[in-house]
Amino acid sequence: MELRFKFFLLTTLTATASRLSPCADAHTHNPSASRAPALGHLNMAEALAARLAVQEQQIHELNLEVQRLVHALRDGRPDGGSLAGSPELERLRAENEKLRYRMVHLRRGLREEPTPGVRGHEEQQQQQQEEEKRGRESASKCPQGQGGGEEGEKDKENVHKCANRSRPVPVDKNKKKEKLEKTPKEGGLEESHPWPEYISDRLQLYEKLKAESDGLLTKRAAESNPITVELPDGRMLQVQAWVTSPYQLASGISQGLADNAVVARVNGELWDLDRPLEKDCLLELLRFDDDDARAVYWHSSAHVLGEAMERFYGGCLCYGPPIENGFYYDMFLEGQRGVSSTEFGALEGICRSVVKEKQPFERLEVSKETLLQMFKYNKFKCRILNEKVTTPTTTVYRCGPLIDLCRGPHVRHTGKIKAMKIYKNSSTYWEGRSDMETLQRIYGISFPDSKMLKEWERFQEEARNRDHRKIGKEQELFFFHDLSPGSCFFLPRGAYIYNTLTDFIKEEYCRRGFQEVATPNIYNSKLWETSGHWQHYSENMFSFPVEQDIFALKPMNCPGHCLMFSHRPRSWRELPLRLADFGVLHRNELSGTLTGLTRVRRFQQDDAHIFCTMEQIKTEMKGCLDFLRSVYDVFEFSFQLYLSTRPEKFLGDIAIWDQAEKQLENSLDEFGEPWKLNPGDGAFYGPKIDIKIKDAIGRYHQCATIQLDFQLPIRFDLTFVGKDGDDKGRPVIIHRAVLGSVERMIAILTENYGGKWPLWLSPRQVMLVPINPSCDDYTKAVCKQFVEAGFMADVDLDSSCLLNKKIRNAQLAQYNFILVVGEKERLTNSVNVRTRDNKVHGEMPVLEVMARLTLLKQSRCCHAEVEF
Ligand SMILES: [Zn+2]
Ligand SMILES: [Zn+2]
Repeated sequence: MELRFKFFLLTTLTATASRLSPCADAHTHNPSASRAPALGHLNMAEALAARLAVQEQQIHELNLEVQRLVHALRDGRPDGGSLAGSPELERLRAENEKLRYRMVHLRRGLREEPTPGVRGHEEQQQQQQEEEKRGRESASKCPQGQGGGEEGEKDKENVHKCANRSRPVPVDKNKKKEKLEKTPKEGGLEESHPWPEYISDRLQLYEKLKAESDGLLTKRAAESNPITVELPDGRMLQVQAWVTSPYQLASGISQGLADNAVVARVNGELWDLDRPLEKDCLLELLRFDDDDARAVYWHSSAHVLGEAMERFYGGCLCYGPPIENGFYYDMFLEGQRGVSSTEFGALEGICRSVVKEKQPFERLEVSKETLLQMFKYNKFKCRILNEKVTTPTTTVYRCGPLIDLCRGPHVRHTGKIKAMKIYKNSSTYWEGRSDMETLQRIYGISFPDSKMLKEWERFQEEARNRDHRKIGKEQELFFFHDLSPGSCFFLPRGAYIYNTLTDFIKEEYCRRGFQEVATPNIYNSKLWETSGHWQHYSENMFSFPVEQDIFALKPMNCPGHCLMFSHRPRSWRELPLRLADFGVLHRNELSGTLTGLTRVRRFQQDDAHIFCTMEQIKTEMKGCLDFLRSVYDVFEFSFQLYLSTRPEKFLGDIAIWDQAEKQLENSLDEFGEPWKLNPGDGAFYGPKIDIKIKDAIGRYHQCATIQLDFQLPIRFDLTFVGKDGDDKGRPVIIHRAVLGSVERMIAILTENYGGKWPLWLSPRQVMLVPINPSCDDYTKAVCKQFVEAGFMADVDLDSSCLLNKKIRNAQLAQYNFILVVGEKERLTNSVNVRTRDNKVHGEMPVLEVMARLTLLKQSRCCHAEVEF
């Protein structure tokens, strides 16, 4: 074995590591601080990338060498035989592991190189990962032409039949160009002039293909035959196949019906309103209030934005999907150019002119080779064509000068977008992968009515006012510090909320047969190898060398609980064993994605793992569901339940999956709340129930999870002795949490209550206000009584402040109860009670007030001020 080589490699890596210092500064806000200023960061990144590539190759060779030795040992060949069980080989393995560990950190360090613009909009990156996922999901359905086999064929036929369909006549090309190129001037910013060259090249090729296709379409339409269309109300209509479009049909019934429709659904498939019907079908006309229609509407709006971005920036468009709040379009800009919000006005101006022109969305089926030609200026569209499109042809859509790779469908023309707003921008990476190109993302929202846009803006304003970061600061609940990004400092009042929440859950644990345990925070990486986290999750773990080994901070409690289960033989009598753990968890989120309490590095969960038998699943699930309902009822959250079943890629025995899914279904049915099925959405290791809660302003959040796991017990070889004495019984693990991350739940609750905490959770429950200084001592004594009884009570002794002002201040600070004390109250050992909503309950003995408040607090009622 070449030991020399190995040592060389280790030295190189260590040297690189110390220069980059990945553990020390890769995640701070100024990662370049320790680097030579003379090197431009791009050159540095290139150099590092090259060096990494070499090192990766070396590691690869080292691996091969190790494998060769292992094989040799197994085959009993002489060169391996001498090494069998030798300490040399062991050391080699350990070093190899360390190298891999360093590699992971080097890669991270490199990825976190600050690319201009990437760190510019940190606060916006929180939702980005989710959007990224949603975007890619809908992208695979919608925007960038991935005509699957059968559908691709259908599309092809359809294109042939389009000749006679009624649709807005495209504006004369020259006239349009002249009109379009009128530059909207806003904020001194102009669209690029002349337009980027690729626009006219692309259009030229398109016109040629379109003419060919139109010829074929005319022929197809000539062979038309009558078909029957059924409407949702049961009406049957006779129309012409390949001629009549849903829009024409709707116009025949009522013009209002036709014009209010966004898109059609034909035999369950979304369908352009101007695309002729092909055969007997069930036809639905969908309006903006339909989820699918809204997605089509927003996706169509993304084309309008895309057109404006091409005309303004001239870069390369990437993905442009609809999202929960509107849509976005990603663009690659040469030369590290970024997008500024000062350009939104100009972009909106171009969008308005596009809308005014009512550009029809035209569809065209084209061969992959021709499309590679058409999009040769855009490596991203070529990537999509080469990597995602598996059929010989796919579709493009045109609106105005924009021709985009897309499956559709869309609204009829751009004039359907009545109100549109560009509301933010951010930087992202191609397909969300930080080792790929940096892209500029622009977000927009649109509605068929400007009143709806106003409404949406009001809602956004409301959400901003409730932002937990804003309230957290105003109410002095918590803060973050650059010296520990993503790890929250809870101030005394925030800590009160934190502890009250965990106490609430602990109380439930006692009633529900959960046992609380405490487990280590750091573990040898061997544990994570057993659990599988090291292979799949190590980049998200904080790890570090300890003596000869690598250790890591735990990102979840389950593996520790497995050790606890297996540290001695277990009997069936102990099952179900419910281990609960508020252990501190750490996940190494990229600093750019950290956002308030919703995305953090340090957090605690109301985490528990139930070890049970297959037969116990149903009862345990019911227990879990009951648990979460009783907690969410206290917060007045309504919730939705989803059952996610076996995905395509799964591990384990199908019969076990089926049995478990059946039990989950039964437990959901017996639970009595409505639930929905998410087929194929389970984790590869077991089915699960997802729970989404709805907050006071109608937003949904996922907090609780109930997840079955058949794999972890196998990985840790967990067994129990069954009733029959068989000691190979395999338990099932149920991972479950109700609050989820306590940090994130505090964010949700802060925004849900808008800072008006219910009494039991309130960090400001009672404010005592003396009328004049002669009552100060008495008031202080009463305050002390309340504090000793466990209340968050304060006294306002500021004598420079008038009584009414003091009361007002306490109300604004959201003290639930304000107790005013004057001479009269002092003499009768009473207080004068009023609430933050200025309801006056009047004079009452202190002891009675305390007794009532204690009861209200214990009952965790939401409106103690009213019920007092
Ligand atoms: Zn599209
Ligand atoms: Zn778990």
